[in-house]
Amino acid sequence: MIPVYDEKTTWAIESVLSTRPPGFKEQKMNCPSCDLKLCEISAGGLRVLVCQEGCGGLWFDRLELLKLDENSHGTGERLLHGPRAEGVRFFRDVEAICPHCKTSLLLRHFFSRERDVEVYQCAKCGGFWVDSGELASLVNLRYESEEKQKQAVASYFKTVFDQRIAKMNLHIEDVMESARSIVKIFLFICPEKFQPLETSLQQKYFRVL
Ligand SMILES: [Zn+2]
Ligand SMILES: [Zn+2]
Repeated sequence: MIPVYDEKTTWAIESVLSTRPPGFKEQKMNCPSCDLKLCEISAGGLRVLVCQEGCGGLWFDRLELLKLDENSHGTGERLLHGPRAEGVRFFRDVEAICPHCKTSLLLRHFFSRERDVEVYQCAKCGGFWVDSGELASLVNLRYESEEKQKQAVASYFKTVFDQRIAKMNLHIEDVMESARSIVKIFLFICPEKFQPLETSLQQKYFRVL
Protein backbone atom coordinates (compact mmCIF):
# COMPACT_ATOMS: atom_id res chain seq x y z
CA MET A 1 0.00 0.00 0.00
CA ILE A 2 1.48 3.32 -1.02
CA PRO A 3 -0.13 6.20 0.86
CA VAL A 4 -1.12 9.32 -1.05
CA TYR A 5 -0.90 12.59 0.85
CA ASP A 6 -2.14 16.04 0.00
CA GLU A 7 0.33 18.81 -0.73
CA LYS A 8 0.38 20.18 2.83
CA THR A 9 1.12 16.76 4.33
CA THR A 10 3.78 15.98 1.72
CA TRP A 11 5.47 19.26 2.58
CA ALA A 12 5.28 18.46 6.30
CA ILE A 13 6.83 15.02 5.78
CA GLU A 14 9.63 16.47 3.67
CA SER A 15 10.39 19.10 6.32
CA VAL A 16 10.59 16.36 8.97
CA LEU A 17 12.93 14.31 6.78
CA SER A 18 15.33 17.25 6.65
CA THR A 19 15.52 17.42 10.47
CA ARG A 20 16.37 13.81 11.28
CA PRO A 21 18.20 13.54 14.60
CA PRO A 22 21.88 12.57 14.53
CA GLY A 23 22.54 8.87 14.95
CA PHE A 24 19.13 7.66 13.88
CA LYS A 25 19.16 4.26 12.22
CA GLU A 26 16.80 3.38 9.46
CA GLN A 27 14.99 0.08 9.88
CA LYS A 28 13.57 -2.29 7.36
CA MET A 29 10.29 -2.21 9.22
CA ASN A 30 7.57 0.04 7.89
CA CYS A 31 4.84 1.87 9.79
CA PRO A 32 1.63 -0.21 9.80
CA SER A 33 -0.30 3.02 9.30
CA CYS A 34 1.66 5.25 6.89
CA ASP A 35 3.88 2.55 5.37
CA LEU A 36 6.84 4.90 5.88
CA LYS A 37 10.12 3.53 7.24
CA LEU A 38 10.34 3.29 11.02
CA CYS A 39 13.43 4.79 12.69
CA GLU A 40 15.15 3.11 15.63
CA ILE A 41 15.51 5.39 18.62
CA SER A 42 17.20 4.44 21.84
CA ALA A 43 15.46 5.79 24.95
CA GLY A 44 15.85 4.76 28.58
CA GLY A 45 17.89 1.72 27.53
CA LEU A 46 15.19 0.48 25.15
CA ARG A 47 15.22 0.28 21.39
CA VAL A 48 11.96 1.64 20.09
CA LEU A 49 10.92 2.03 16.48
CA VAL A 50 9.28 5.34 15.71
CA CYS A 51 7.30 6.57 12.73
CA GLN A 52 9.13 9.88 12.77
CA GLU A 53 8.34 10.75 9.21
CA GLY A 54 4.63 10.24 9.58
CA CYS A 55 2.12 9.52 12.32
CA GLY A 56 4.53 9.42 15.29
CA GLY A 57 3.42 5.89 16.24
CA LEU A 58 5.73 3.70 18.35
CA TRP A 59 6.65 0.03 17.97
CA PHE A 60 7.74 -1.86 21.08
CA ASP A 61 9.25 -5.29 20.67
CA ARG A 62 7.95 -7.66 23.36
CA LEU A 63 11.45 -8.56 24.55
CA GLU A 64 12.45 -4.90 24.84
CA LEU A 65 9.51 -4.38 27.19
CA LEU A 66 11.00 -6.86 29.65
CA LYS A 67 13.59 -4.18 30.43
CA LEU A 68 10.93 -1.85 31.85
CA ASP A 69 10.59 -1.64 35.62
CA GLU A 70 9.71 0.97 38.25
CA ASN A 71 12.95 2.82 37.49
CA SER A 72 11.93 3.30 33.87
CA HIS A 73 9.09 5.75 34.53
CA GLY A 74 9.62 8.84 32.41
CA THR A 75 12.89 7.64 30.89
CA GLY A 76 11.28 7.29 27.45
CA GLU A 77 10.14 10.91 27.44
CA ARG A 78 12.23 11.78 24.40
CA LEU A 79 9.94 9.63 22.28
CA LEU A 80 7.33 12.38 22.66
CA HIS A 81 9.65 15.15 21.55
CA GLY A 82 10.65 13.91 18.13
CA PRO A 83 9.54 15.67 14.97
CA ARG A 84 6.46 14.33 13.33
CA ALA A 85 4.56 15.31 10.26
CA GLU A 86 1.58 17.51 11.03
CA GLY A 87 -1.74 16.30 9.78
CA VAL A 88 -0.79 12.64 9.33
CA ARG A 89 -3.25 10.62 11.32
CA PHE A 90 -3.42 6.99 12.18
CA PHE A 91 -6.10 4.97 10.41
CA ARG A 92 -9.24 3.83 12.13
CA ASP A 93 -11.12 0.59 11.65
CA VAL A 94 -8.64 -0.72 9.09
CA GLU A 95 -6.89 -4.06 9.42
CA ALA A 96 -3.20 -3.51 10.09
CA ILE A 97 -0.40 -5.98 9.51
CA CYS A 98 2.32 -6.44 12.13
CA PRO A 99 5.41 -4.50 10.96
CA HIS A 100 7.66 -7.18 12.50
CA CYS A 101 6.00 -10.44 11.41
CA LYS A 102 4.68 -8.95 8.16
CA THR A 103 1.92 -11.57 7.91
CA SER A 104 -0.09 -11.57 11.14
CA LEU A 105 -2.70 -8.96 11.97
CA LEU A 106 -2.40 -6.40 14.71
CA LEU A 107 -5.28 -6.66 17.18
CA ARG A 108 -6.61 -3.47 18.66
CA HIS A 109 -6.79 -3.33 22.45
CA PHE A 110 -8.53 0.05 22.56
CA PHE A 111 -8.75 3.48 21.05
CA SER A 112 -10.01 6.89 22.06
CA ARG A 113 -11.20 9.34 19.44
CA GLU A 114 -11.22 12.03 22.08
CA ARG A 115 -7.50 11.58 22.80
CA ASP A 116 -6.41 10.22 19.41
CA VAL A 117 -4.95 7.21 21.21
CA GLU A 118 -4.74 3.72 19.77
CA VAL A 119 -3.00 0.62 21.07
CA TYR A 120 -2.53 -2.56 19.04
CA GLN A 121 -0.70 -5.82 19.68
CA CYS A 122 0.50 -8.55 17.35
CA ALA A 123 -1.03 -11.89 18.29
CA LYS A 124 2.05 -13.69 16.98
CA CYS A 125 5.15 -11.81 18.23
CA GLY A 126 3.44 -9.91 21.07
CA GLY A 127 4.87 -6.53 20.01
CA PHE A 128 2.87 -3.35 20.65
CA TRP A 129 1.95 -0.55 18.29
CA VAL A 130 1.14 2.59 20.25
CA ASP A 131 -0.15 5.91 19.02
CA SER A 132 -0.20 8.10 22.12
CA GLY A 133 -2.09 10.79 20.20
CA GLU A 134 -2.68 13.94 22.21
CA LEU A 135 0.00 13.25 24.83
CA ALA A 136 2.87 14.70 22.78
CA SER A 137 1.12 18.02 22.29
CA LEU A 138 0.02 18.20 25.96
CA VAL A 139 3.61 17.68 27.04
CA ASN A 140 5.21 19.98 24.45
CA LEU A 141 2.74 22.89 24.43
CA ARG A 142 3.26 26.02 26.50
CA TYR A 143 0.67 26.45 29.21
CA GLU A 144 -0.14 29.51 31.28
CA SER A 145 0.91 27.58 34.38
CA GLU A 146 2.51 24.27 35.22
CA GLU A 147 -0.54 23.42 37.29
CA LYS A 148 -2.81 23.77 34.24
CA GLN A 149 -0.52 21.52 32.21
CA LYS A 150 -0.45 18.91 34.98
CA GLN A 151 -4.25 18.93 35.04
CA ALA A 152 -4.38 18.47 31.25
CA VAL A 153 -1.96 15.52 31.38
CA ALA A 154 -3.82 14.00 34.36
CA SER A 155 -7.08 14.26 32.42
CA TYR A 156 -5.49 12.51 29.42
CA PHE A 157 -4.39 9.61 31.63
CA LYS A 158 -7.79 9.44 33.27
CA THR A 159 -9.26 8.76 29.83
CA VAL A 160 -6.57 6.31 28.73
CA PHE A 161 -6.13 4.39 32.00
CA ASP A 162 -9.48 4.62 33.79
CA GLN A 163 -11.79 4.66 30.78
CA ARG A 164 -9.93 2.53 28.28
CA ILE A 165 -7.41 0.14 29.85
CA ALA A 166 -9.73 -0.43 32.83
CA LYS A 167 -12.40 -1.64 30.37
CA MET A 168 -10.22 -4.32 28.80
CA ASN A 169 -11.14 -7.88 29.85
CA LEU A 170 -8.72 -7.78 32.75
CA HIS A 171 -10.13 -10.97 34.30
CA ILE A 172 -8.48 -12.87 31.43
CA GLU A 173 -4.86 -13.51 32.34
CA ASP A 174 -3.38 -12.77 28.89
CA VAL A 175 -5.34 -9.55 28.61
CA MET A 176 -4.19 -8.52 32.08
CA GLU A 177 -0.61 -9.19 31.02
CA SER A 178 -1.08 -7.00 27.94
CA ALA A 179 -2.68 -4.26 30.05
CA ARG A 180 0.30 -4.36 32.39
CA SER A 181 2.66 -3.87 29.43
CA ILE A 182 0.55 -1.01 28.05
CA VAL A 183 0.56 0.79 31.41
CA LYS A 184 4.34 0.31 31.57
CA ILE A 185 4.73 1.82 28.09
CA PHE A 186 2.69 4.89 29.02
CA LEU A 187 4.57 5.38 32.30
CA PHE A 188 7.82 5.02 30.33
CA ILE A 189 6.97 7.80 27.86
CA CYS A 190 5.20 10.15 30.29
CA PRO A 191 7.68 12.76 31.58
CA GLU A 192 8.59 12.28 35.22
CA LYS A 193 7.30 15.69 36.29
CA PHE A 194 3.74 14.51 35.59
CA GLN A 195 4.15 11.36 37.69
CA PRO A 196 2.98 9.67 39.85
CA LEU A 197 -0.30 9.63 37.93
CA GLU A 198 -2.33 7.85 40.61
CA THR A 199 -5.21 6.83 38.38
CA SER A 200 -7.93 4.50 39.72
CA LEU A 201 -6.61 1.78 37.41
CA GLN A 202 -3.16 1.92 38.98
CA GLN A 203 -4.56 2.02 42.49
CA LYS A 204 -6.74 -0.99 41.79
CA TYR A 205 -4.41 -3.21 39.74
CA PHE A 206 -0.94 -1.85 39.27
CA ARG A 207 0.43 -0.53 42.53
CA VAL A 208 3.78 -2.03 41.67
CA LEU A 209 5.01 -2.34 38.10
ZN1 LIG B 1 3.17 6.16 10.66
ZN1 LIG C 1 4.20 -9.56 15.02
